[in-house]
Amino acid sequence: MPVTPIGPFACLGNELRSLRGHIAATSSLPLRQPLANIRGAAARRRRHHHERRQLFQQHWQQHQASAVCRASSGNSQASSSAGGGAEEVDVVVIGSGIGGLSCAGLLAKYGLKVVVCESHDVPGGAAHTWTVRAPGGEGLYHFESGPSLYSDMAGRGRGANPLAHVLQALDEPLDLLPYRTWNVVLPEGSFLTEVGASQFCDVLEQVRGPEAVQEWRRLQEFIRPLAVAATMLPPVAFRQDAGAAFTAIARYLPHLLSNGGAALKLSGPFSKVLDEAGVRDPFIKNWLDLLCFLLSGLPADGTIAAAVAFMFDQWYRPDCYLEFPRGGSQAMVDALVRGVEKHGGRLLLRSHVEQILVEGGKATGVRLRGGRTIHAKRAVVSNASSPDTLRLLAPEAVPASWRQGVQDTPLNPSFMHLHLGFDATGKLRRGLELHHIVVNSWDAPGGVTAEQNVVLVSIASVIDPSLAPAGKHTLHAYLPATEPYELWEGLDRRSRQYQQLKEERSRVLWDGALGFSLQNWPALVSLVGTPLTHERFLRRSRGTYGPGIRAGEGLFPWPASPVPGLYCCGDFAFPGIGLPAVAASGAITANSLVSVGQHTALLQELGI
Ligand SMILES: Cc1cc2nc3c(=O)[nH]c(=O)nc-3n(C[C@H](O)[C@H](O)[C@H](O)COP(=O)(O)OP(=O)(O)OC[C@H]3O[C@@H](n4cnc5c(N)ncnc54)[C@H](O)[C@@H]3O)c2cc1C
Repeated sequence: MPVTPIGPFACLGNELRSLRGHIAATSSLPLRQPLANIRGAAARRRRHHHERRQLFQQHWQQHQASAVCRASSGNSQASSSAGGGAEEVDVVVIGSGIGGLSCAGLLAKYGLKVVVCESHDVPGGAAHTWTVRAPGGEGLYHFESGPSLYSDMAGRGRGANPLAHVLQALDEPLDLLPYRTWNVVLPEGSFLTEVGASQFCDVLEQVRGPEAVQEWRRLQEFIRPLAVAATMLPPVAFRQDAGAAFTAIARYLPHLLSNGGAALKLSGPFSKVLDEAGVRDPFIKNWLDLLCFLLSGLPADGTIAAAVAFMFDQWYRPDCYLEFPRGGSQAMVDALVRGVEKHGGRLLLRSHVEQILVEGGKATGVRLRGGRTIHAKRAVVSNASSPDTLRLLAPEAVPASWRQGVQDTPLNPSFMHLHLGFDATGKLRRGLELHHIVVNSWDAPGGVTAEQNVVLVSIASVIDPSLAPAGKHTLHAYLPATEPYELWEGLDRRSRQYQQLKEERSRVLWDGALGFSLQNWPALVSLVGTPLTHERFLRRSRGTYGPGIRAGEGLFPWPASPVPGLYCCGDFAFPGIGLPAVAASGAITANSLVSVGQHTALLQELGI
């Protein structure tokens, strides 16, 4: 992930672990099959799945959901929509993504009067959820727009997940369901893997032999000091002013001095670490490219080493595990909203900011669609993407160099999504996993970043049955940041052309989903999302996953913008993409708006 010392693990960041010797029961591909056989099997599988998919589509068309409610499943506190009049607060936060809510929650805890203006009718941004009533009206399917992979959400101490620090500060713990295993379908075969210190060696032993295992072990040793260095400075200790000398540098000086050498390696691309560690095995390189891509949207030569080192620290410890919040991403969003509101902050839904007000060269508030204005005495914080933030500012309010910088920042591609509700009554295969990852080819041009190549699937109801009606499941399959927006740009969503493209570009998702979960089970609800859907519901320019800032070539900007009083937090700001990162960016922004004394008191309260 495009980070520095915190290295969050965005997207379906996974870890290597091991094969445990057994082939996933769902897979028709045993490990170490000759490649030609594997390809033949894959082609047969695709044909089979295509037929199944057609059947399912016919089926669900007959049973189209009776109600599609893109509405919060449980967010009763979320306050009113925009009305008329003007009001004054200390800070207006534009957007209720995890970055915006983290910032607002801490600001409110610091004692500032804060209001969050969210354009959508539900909070959460990329982590929002919605429900669909089951055909026949019995129960709800909970669908998640984004994250499903979490770890260390209740972490404590210096090296913990920054989102855990925010939740700790707000005293809003989540009910976390631990698990270890996930399913991987690679060109080499299919297997179950686990987080943990050594199990991936079993996989390597079977796929590549003992030399690869030795190479992996050497890499683990090489990364160990980097992982320590990556957790030396907690991101919540950062702030964007000279006060950082007290809250971050002086406070953690002994750690910095003892690990400073390793820290120097953290800011370059992870591929450099691989070279220095002497990693040559093509499977290990492919695998790490995949992990990096899932973290940052970029392969190893674009992903900052700090992010991967942090991930190693989180997922290669002995006895580590992954965890899923009971209630899914909605539970995390609700916890943050509660944290904002119990400290006196407010969340305004359906409150689209049309303009950031700039007076005398300083950001002074926002104007909402409908005309309502909210004045901000201290600051305006934008959690919208940089291109979207730029649109909210009058041209003359922004220095040309900043405008150019935003316009020149490369954007990661967008997503295709497939959301399914299906019936598994009495048919649930033992061991159906929450997470599945499919890589169709390592050799496609662009490797793991190639279009239509990597499919991620999560079946959240496997771990939390409350997310689907009794006996049913809710599944989210998606192409992670590989769908070009250009293919969809300008299309009318009601046009035949759009429908055809949807059908064509989602085929690979159906194939992925059918691969391990739906073989004989009817899909009762089905929704396909495109980059236009992503753009619309996540309010993100071009439906992008975030900025494609390559390690070693560019830096994520810090929160303060060149417009005094305007700050930016979220995945377009340091440290980058992913829940831990955007929570860190929200915290850094909030800290930058209060005194060193208040900030230090928070760090003491967190015990770091
Ligand atoms: C499919 C998918 C899977 C993912 N999986 C994982 C995962 O497993 N683990 C992980 O750590 N990360 C994952 N991520 C990444 C992670 O979800 C995001 O990086 C993170 O949620 C982004 O948060 P944010 O605060 O930067 O912004 P956003 O979530 O984009 O929030 C911005 C908010 O601002 C609002 N807004 C925008 N413009 C305006 C306006 N003018 N007025 C008012 N409101 C406005 C938007 O409506 C939105 O609510 C995934 C992302 C996706 C898309």
